[in-house]
Amino acid sequence: MDTTKRRFLNAVVAGAAIIPVAGMSTAMANPIVRNNNQPDRKGQTGKRYAMLIDLRKCIGCQACTVGCSIENQTPIGQFRTTVKQYEVTLDDGSTQHQEVKSFMLPRLCNHCDNPPCVKVCPVQATFQRDDGIVMVDNKRCVACAYCVQACPYDARFINEETLTADKCTFCAHRLEDGLLPACVETCTGGARIIGDINDPNSHISQLMAEHQHDIKVLKPEAKTIPHVFYIGMAERFTSHIDGQAAIYAPQGEKA
Ligand code: SF4
Ligand code: SF4
Repeated sequence: MDTTKRRFLNAVVAGAAIIPVAGMSTAMANPIVRNNNQPDRKGQTGKRYAMLIDLRKCIGCQACTVGCSIENQTPIGQFRTTVKQYEVTLDDGSTQHQEVKSFMLPRLCNHCDNPPCVKVCPVQATFQRDDGIVMVDNKRCVACAYCVQACPYDARFINEETLTADKCTFCAHRLEDGLLPACVETCTGGARIIGDINDPNSHISQLMAEHQHDIKVLKPEAKTIPHVFYIGMAERFTSHIDGQAAIYAPQGEKA
C-alpha cells in the first residue's frame, strides 16, 4: 500500500469521516521555493491572510484534518490542523441539574501578528511573510524545537520524517495558485473561511464586519495577536478550553 493511501486510512481510523477530496495536489510545499532555491520570504505583499471559523457550522467530521494530511503529507499521527472535541459538564450550582455537552474546536497555527515562534528561532528558519503567513524554511531549521516550546497554541511539532519544525502554512502554495487551502476546500459544513482582511470587499472582511461583536481569538492574554478568528463560541464553554479560564476575548479587546 502506498504512503498516501496508508496516511488517508490512518486518518480515517483515527476518527475522521470518509470525505471525497477533489482536486487535491500532493505537493509538499513548505515553504514555497522560488528562485535560487531560496524560500519566498515576502509572500503576497499588500495582503493579510486570516481565517474565520464559524463554530456553529463545524460538525466535527475531521474532513479538514484528512484533507490537510493528504495535501501536506504530514507523517502518520502528526497533524497541522485538527478538530478538538471538548466534553463539558454544566450545572446550575445544584447537583440535580447537571448537563453534559460537547463542542468542537478546529485548531491550527494562528499566523499571529506578534509570533513568539519567530523571535526564538536562532537561525531565522521561522519567518513571517508580508502577507502574514508564518513559515518554516526546512533547509535552515536545526530542529532545536525552541519554536515548538514558544508557541502558546501547541500549533507546532518536529516532523518525524523531515526532522524539522512543521505546522500549518495556510496552504500558501495553493493560495498563490488561486486555490483554497485543503482544509477550507474539504470542510463539509463550510465553517472555514480564508481571505485577505486588508481588502474590505473580501468575503472574510464582510463576515467579520457582520459578526464583529461575536469574534473571538484564542488566548488573547498571550498578546500574540492571532489571525484565526472564531464566531459562534458559546460563552458557557470558554472556561473549559485546555482547562484555562476565559481564553477568548472580542477582537481588538485588550487581554
Ligand atoms: Fe507561531 Fe504558534 Fe502563533 Fe503559529 S500560533 S504564529 S506557531 S506562535
Ligand atoms: Fe528555528 Fe527550527 Fe529551532 Fe524552530 S526548530 S526554532 S524553526 S531552528
